[in-house]
Amino acid sequence: MSNVLIVGEVKNGELKKISKELTSAARKIADSLGGKVIALVIDDKAEAVSAELKAEGADVIVNAKASEFNPEGFANIVHSVVQDKGAKVVLMPHTPQGKDYSPRVAIKSNAGIIADVVGLSVDGGKVVAKKPIYSGKAYGNFKVSTDVQMFTIRPNSQELAGKAGEGAVEASSAGFGDVKVKVASVDASGGSKVQLAEASIIVSGGRGIKGPENWPLLQDLADTLGAALGASRATVDAGWIPHSHQVGQTGKTVSPNCYIACGISGAIQHLAGMGSSKYIVAINKDGDAPIFKVATYGVVADLFEVVPALTAEFKKVLG
Ligand SMILES: Cc1cc2nc3c(=O)[nH]c(=O)nc-3n(C[C@H](O)[C@H](O)[C@H](O)COP(=O)(O)OP(=O)(O)OC[C@H]3O[C@@H](n4cnc5c(N)ncnc54)[C@H](O)[C@@H]3O)c2cc1C
Repeated sequence: MSNVLIVGEVKNGELKKISKELTSAARKIADSLGGKVIALVIDDKAEAVSAELKAEGADVIVNAKASEFNPEGFANIVHSVVQDKGAKVVLMPHTPQGKDYSPRVAIKSNAGIIADVVGLSVDGGKVVAKKPIYSGKAYGNFKVSTDVQMFTIRPNSQELAGKAGEGAVEASSAGFGDVKVKVASVDASGGSKVQLAEASIIVSGGRGIKGPENWPLLQDLADTLGAALGASRATVDAGWIPHSHQVGQTGKTVSPNCYIACGISGAIQHLAGMGSSKYIVAINKDGDAPIFKVATYGVVADLFEVVPALTAEFKKVLG
């Protein structure tokens, strides 16, 4: 029997979608290996999100209190719950927070860890993790050989199955312990209205938009769709938009349901950041642009004609 532990994430009292994705993925693994799904939430308002975790498959929801993020403190709590619950598989979010504490948990638990996973399955009693390699040019399948197997999962990469678990709620006494790391301040400025890394739709602009004065064209489409605004490095380097919007190898890795690339050529370093998007829509006036090799739908046309027409049509349909 292998219990599967997920570590959820809460922001301003609301459960982030990645937490439900992790729980749903854990449910499938636990059903296959024969174990319980345990969801750990570290937050002052952890109790408020228990029902949502139960609905996605959590058998036990463990609430640990913390009023602020601390990578070392979070790692101590996760490690303590891994031991307490005898978890053999641990799924953590591949978010800025998850990336910070997950390697520390792996070291403390003497476990192997695979980061930035986009697909999970089970083979011979072990979890098989699929992840992009060579800057997204290919995918590799990996297994962890240690007794406890750890993974960080890319947001938006897992489907929600909505298969409920038992939903027992427990309070944990685990705390930060003796931590040496102190978070001095958090700079949450920059970025789009919708968080780029977790957005389910992204409208992204490249050098084809000609200049920063044309972002409102893309922002209007993004607002209509409830999407985040992304950008290529060429536009960031030109000073048209802050780096927090950049998608790609030296920017953010995203995996939305839909990525709309406007005036982006599709350089390999850009594809490295968005190639795992479910649907890719490319608008580019050069029919030979590499972006069309990965696009689900392609429009060979001038973005200054297509984008306003798309926005007007979506406004009609979506009201
Ligand atoms: C180490 C390294 C790391 C890098 N990291 C990143 C990264 O993280 N992210 C990233 O994006 N890049 C990255 N790059 C840069 C990358 O190689 C490309 O230079 C960059 O992605 C190009 O941006 P672009 O597509 O906006 O511009 P371009 O390649 O200039 O493409 C502009 C596109 O717009 C089209 N176009 C022009 N006018 C219109 C119009 N009116 N309507 C429709 N289409 C139009 C053109 O046909 C063209 O295809 C990196 C490069 C290196 C070397």
